[in-house]
Amino acid sequence: MGNVKPLLKVKNLHKEFKVGGGQKLKAVNDVSFTVNEGETFGLVGESGCGKSTTGRTILQLYEATSGEIIFDGEDILKMDNKRKRALHSDIQMIFQDPYASLNPRLTVTEIIAEGMDAQKMYKKNKKAKLARVYELLELVGLNKNHANRYPHEFSGGQRQRIGIARALAVQPRFIIADEPISALDVSIQAQVVNLFQELQEKHKLTYLFIAHDLAMVKHISDRIGVMYLGKLVEVAESLELYEDPLHPYTQALLSAIPIPDPDIEQSRERIVLQGDVPSPMNPPSGCHFRTRCPYVKKECEEIKPELVEVKKGHFVACHLYE
Ligand code: SF4
Repeated sequence: MGNVKPLLKVKNLHKEFKVGGGQKLKAVNDVSFTVNEGETFGLVGESGCGKSTTGRTILQLYEATSGEIIFDGEDILKMDNKRKRALHSDIQMIFQDPYASLNPRLTVTEIIAEGMDAQKMYKKNKKAKLARVYELLELVGLNKNHANRYPHEFSGGQRQRIGIARALAVQPRFIIADEPISALDVSIQAQVVNLFQELQEKHKLTYLFIAHDLAMVKHISDRIGVMYLGKLVEVAESLELYEDPLHPYTQALLSAIPIPDPDIEQSRERIVLQGDVPSPMNPPSGCHFRTRCPYVKKECEEIKPELVEVKKGHFVACHLYE
């Protein structure tokens, strides 16, 4: 990548939810990462690891407990409401479930135009607005014959395309895609990933691409962050992460991805993690991964490992590398 310019910097982000009995759930626990302009940063982890909460907190769907979220040099958490509203044209979100995220009572045109109306675009020019809707439909591989139909008339993949057109309508610079392909058939997933990539090139978009398994983000991500129980445990360039995963959790996630070559598949060692993910209400002391880690040692129980750079651009939070 040529000139690297950070577009989003998340610094020491915490998000706690109050739950019954005065207890707190630390969904996002001291998370820091940077997303550079024009790149795709994949955020990966099992459900409940805090990846979606991180995305939603960046978008201000949740109020951050503490930390900084700096977008293009400006801390979102210090913006007034007017500025935050304007920010919604810069940052858009695409949701996991294309069935639930589209209003069934609105036509495709109305769905796509919603964001434009909220941002007061094309206020007095209905014709221009409609032309823009048609243009967006073409852009995502649909056409103007789809404009007056309702969401239930479309397949899952087509609905996700409508969701993408809706997000693009306000000309965002940054898109948070929260498991955008998980609900789709495997045969459709690659098509939607390709669409994301084409749109990124055409419109110089920056993505935070959230997924629950590494196979899904492999092709689209420039860099990847792996989360476990509210914490980032490893960050590296995509290829580097696949070739040299350092954190035992990343190694386990990667070993679960089947390899198409049957000889390699048969001979390689699979790391099967013991037990379930502990409750984020009551995470283990020291390293949160210690109850499932095959290499756990004494200090893992007492000392929280910090995310440190152990190779250029490759960060890991594990006592094995200190
Ligand atoms: Fe395993 Fe200890 Fe590293 Fe945690 S810090 S991943 S328990 S070796």
